[in-house]
Parts: sequence; structure tokens; C-alpha cells
Amino acid sequence: MSIASLAPDYIRSIMPYQPGKPISELAREMGIEEANIVKLASNENPLGMSAQARDAVHAAVAELGRYPDGGAFALKVALCRRFGVKPEQLVVGNGSNDILELVTLAFLAPGLSAVYSRHAFAVYPLATNARGAHGIEVAAQNFGHDLDAMAAAITPQTRVVFIANPNNPTGTFVSGAALEAFLGQVPRHVLVVLDEAYTEYLAPEQRYDSIAWLDRFPNLLVSRTFSKAYGLAGLRVGYAVAHPDVADLMNRVRQPFNVSSIALAAAEAALGDEEFIARSAELNRRGMVQLTEALAAMGLEWIPSAGNFVTFKVGDAIGVNQSLLRQGVIVRPIAAYGMPHWLRVSIGLPEENARFIEALRQALA
Ligand SMILES: *Cc1c(COP(=O)(O)O)cnc(C)c1O
Repeated sequence: MSIASLAPDYIRSIMPYQPGKPISELAREMGIEEANIVKLASNENPLGMSAQARDAVHAAVAELGRYPDGGAFALKVALCRRFGVKPEQLVVGNGSNDILELVTLAFLAPGLSAVYSRHAFAVYPLATNARGAHGIEVAAQNFGHDLDAMAAAITPQTRVVFIANPNNPTGTFVSGAALEAFLGQVPRHVLVVLDEAYTEYLAPEQRYDSIAWLDRFPNLLVSRTFSKAYGLAGLRVGYAVAHPDVADLMNRVRQPFNVSSIALAAAEAALGDEEFIARSAELNRRGMVQLTEALAAMGLEWIPSAGNFVTFKVGDAIGVNQSLLRQGVIVRPIAAYGMPHWLRVSIGLPEENARFIEALRQALA
């Protein structure tokens, strides 16, 4: 008998997360120079991080012999100033992935359930299953969240509902008004996790103030990250804003030093560089036009996206992906999301987008 067979069934049945292929891995596999590889597979900011964040990283190196501030005091002060919240409402995570895990650690257990949409972010079922809780997957509507169906799927055992807005990998978006109406419908025994990993990319007319809703909805948790628009994916920082009682529970199950000192310093500096975020959003807006015009010219179907990526239909996604990889272009196959005929491409620099477009033309020829 193998020791592994003694692990709970719900652990042994977990399918591991499939990350975007690292540049170094494709370089090894195909013998392509790293400098000639374009990675548009993980929704990273093609500008990297802001210069202010980079300076903060360098300065923080001097203190690496010490433990980080497990209470994330300085970053919390900066977040409180920005969002008008209290430090007791904040949880800082090792990426927002950590926030999602902490939610399930604090609120789920065998016999309880979480509700999420089909084609929604892969970490929701992963984190739910890791607690032995039951995942209720709700059918999507035009590849996005069907909020009425999600509200109807809640049972007395449900403790968490996950909503990604915009959603990854489909890029779909639900309006602030629809979310507010949903919160009014959801029973107070259910925590609504609003995952806003791409919120900095929203167009001005799409913006809504979810943090202001916390006063009315103590069962709301807003999750954000420094990995996407802020360009700090490699450092791993995210945060939650919630009711103090919710944040307190999550902080009890959090590792005492879950975020490194370099990551904390970089995030604080990045938060202060609003010009960088505006520049990143504008680059993304132009790149989205460049990519979707090219997809249209190739006669391909795509899903309108509010994020920094777009998902498009190619039919033979495995074959097209292989061809793109041979040409040194990494995108993301999303068969694991129930979309075996689609690929997701992140918006890159104009020249990276052009490389992808040309490679896709070759792949389809
Ligand atoms: C990328 C992503 C995250 C998590 O990213 P972190 O790097 O862990 O902060 C969370 N939710 C969605 C929808 C994402 O796409």
C-alpha cells in the first residue's frame, strides 16, 4: 500500500493547476533563444513593473536578513489611504491566490459548498476541493457569470460564492449594477468573493466602487492583486478588503510571514505610481484593438474582453498551439476550462502582438 493512498479522496482527485509555459522551458524544449520567445500566456504586464517599485526592491535587499513585517503595516497604511478603509479590514496575501486559499481555509470544510461559474478561474474549484468541500459549478451565459443562476444554486450548506470580474480566461464582465443587485439577493450566510484581479484595466464607463458596498454587505470580500496591471507577478502580493470579522478569521489561518519583505516594499511603491497604471491601461487598450482587428481579419471568433487578454476560437487548439510554440510564441490553451477549441492570448507590447498575429497566420495557413 502506498502512503499516498492514505491521503483523503478529495486531495487525491485534485487536478493540478496548469500554468503558462515558462520562457526558459520552451527555450530548452525547442532550442530557441530566450530573447526570441514571446510569452503572452499569463496575463502579465508587458511593461514589467514601475521604476518606483524596482527602486523599492533594490532598497529592500539590504534588510533581507530580517523577517518581513507579518502585519504588513506600511502596505496596509497605503491601502487604507487609497481606499478609505481601516487596517482591520485588510488581509495581505502571497498573491491573491493566497487570499482565495485563506477564504476557503476560513469558511469551507467537508459538508459545505462553494458556488462558482463554469469557465471561471481555475483556483476556485482547486481551493474548494482542497478543503474537502463541495463545488457547485453553474452553467455560464455567453461564457460569463449567470448571476441569477448562481444565486439560485446557493444551498443552506453554501458558504462562499466566487465571482471573477472581469473573468479569466473568458474576459467577460458583469456591470456594477448587476453585482449590487446580486449582493442584495444573496443570503447573509454566504461570503461573496469578488475577485477583481483585472480591475485596473476596466474602461472608465465600466468602473464601479465595490469597496463602498462593504458598509452595506458585511458578507462581501473584494480581492485584488499586484500581479497583473502592477506588474509584480513574480513577487506574489495580493490583498482582500472585507468586514473586520472576516479579515480577522483569515488572518488567523494565514502563515505569519506569508508575504516577503521585498514584495511588501514593491507593492507599496507600485500603489503610489498611478501614472504607470494609467500608461499600462492605455497600452492594453491599444493592444486589444490591434489583436481583435487581426482576429477579425482572420475570420476568427473571439469573446469581447474587459481584461488584458482575449480568448479566441481556432478549432484545433492543440495543433495551432504547437505551431505557435515552434514559432516561439507562447499562449494559453484552455481545454482545462472546458474550452478545448479556444486559446487565450495576453495583450503584449505592439511588436509582441505583431509577432503573435504573424505566427497565428502561419499556424492557420
Ligand atoms: C491571475 C489571477 C489571480 C491571481 O493572481 P495572483 O498572482 O495570485 O495574485 C486571481 N484571480 C484571477 C481571476 C486571475 O486571473
